Amino acid sequence: MTAALYTGRAMLRTAVLERGFPGGELLNTEYLDDVIGFPKILGYELAEKFAAHAKQFGAEFFETTGVTSVTKMDDGYFHTETDKAEIFRSPAVIVTAGGTPIKLGVPGELEYAGKGVSYCAICDAAFFKQQIVAVVGGGDAACEEADFLTRYATKVYLIHRRHEFRASTILQKHIFDNPKIEVIWDTIVERVDGDPQEGMKGLRLHNLVTNERKFLAANGLFIFIGFRPNTGVIAGHFDHDVMGYVLTDAAMMSSIPGLFIAGDLRAQLTRQVTTASGDATTAAIAADKYISRFKEMEREGSNEAVREALEASHISGGGYT
Ligand code: NAP
Repeated sequence: MTAALYTGRAMLRTAVLERGFPGGELLNTEYLDDVIGFPKILGYELAEKFAAHAKQFGAEFFETTGVTSVTKMDDGYFHTETDKAEIFRSPAVIVTAGGTPIKLGVPGELEYAGKGVSYCAICDAAFFKQQIVAVVGGGDAACEEADFLTRYATKVYLIHRRHEFRASTILQKHIFDNPKIEVIWDTIVERVDGDPQEGMKGLRLHNLVTNERKFLAANGLFIFIGFRPNTGVIAGHFDHDVMGYVLTDAAMMSSIPGLFIAGDLRAQLTRQVTTASGDATTAAIAADKYISRFKEMEREGSNEAVREALEASHISGGGYT
């Protein structure tokens, strides 16, 4: 929505292809307290403000259940096709499809998402001051975030389905050295319990070795069992890191000239609303410059020349500006 705001503001005709209500992971977040200028705001409220702001600059939103293909044609234009068989033709595409935390898939998980269940400790840890939380997972993310959560929570249970972490040794050491963390081995979460009005109250656990089942009282559950970038139809067509996140240059352009990437989909240190918004600002301004140059070249020469010039400019590192 930041990208749409900036391209709209640059007087470019902007089509936003969105699955359902705009907002993505914001809609899974109850409150945010780390967006500059908004000391505390509901996730959906911020999403509404973002969409309204983008529309104010002329962005047109098209609801779709999916994009079926993004194809770069011989004349340098992209054809983006949706499952409604609509084709959007544009010199540039900005992909901001984000990522999706892998879900546990247990009863109560979705019901209490944003009301106790979270997939982002940096976003939500501060809401669990002086409370008891549980973390699920045994990788780097679970260990790192369990340690982080102890800055706020009085007690953190780290629940892992085996008796050995796959996390790096240093992160495991932080876990074992932290008196606020108790590891619950060989155990899976079977359901999330709570009150629909008051939120999550605890977890039903199953020890896979002893076969014992018990209730664990906890105010929050942080799930870190992996995260997938939503590369969708463009997967495999660009340079990416080992985890599948798209590599870009400083102007947010992928290895495909004219295809820009912003937000959680991009290989980077952190995945926050503010950084996604920052990426998108850069991507939109870079896309505007790319399109100006593209149009100029199109007026001057053949389609082949347009393509060659843009590809050459990409290789020389942002020369299209
Ligand atoms: P991960 O390494 O794939 O670990 C996922 C963990 O979740 C595993 O311990 C796995 O158990 C467990 N798990 C998977 N499905 C489960 C289920 N349905 N129920 C219960 N447990 C389940 O994922 P990650 O920790 O998100 O890390 C992803 C990548 O990011 C890794 O390459 C990691 O090194 C990197 N990363 C690095 C850092 C860092 O270096 N500071 C921080 C975060 C992430 P099993 O072990 O039994 O398979």
